[in-house]
Amino acid sequence: MSMRLSLREEVEPPLCSSCGKIMHPREKGAIFNCPNCGEVTIYRDMYCRLQGVEYVCPKCGFVGP
Ligand SMILES: [Zn+2]
Ligand SMILES: [Zn+2]
Repeated sequence: MSMRLSLREEVEPPLCSSCGKIMHPREKGAIFNCPNCGEVTIYRDMYCRLQGVEYVCPKCGFVGP
């Protein structure tokens, strides 16, 4: 069961929380927990990180750079 779950996570790449595009594993994006609630994992691809595009936490609504 646990093996199946981890395989599924590998197959589905994370989406950038700012622009919604797929983050490629080789891309130097940022992955971190929401600084406000800490319960949601935020993904930011390299483009949005460099451009400072805002992201919104889907759980608490926190907007951050
Ligand atoms: Zn992005
Ligand atoms: Zn949050």
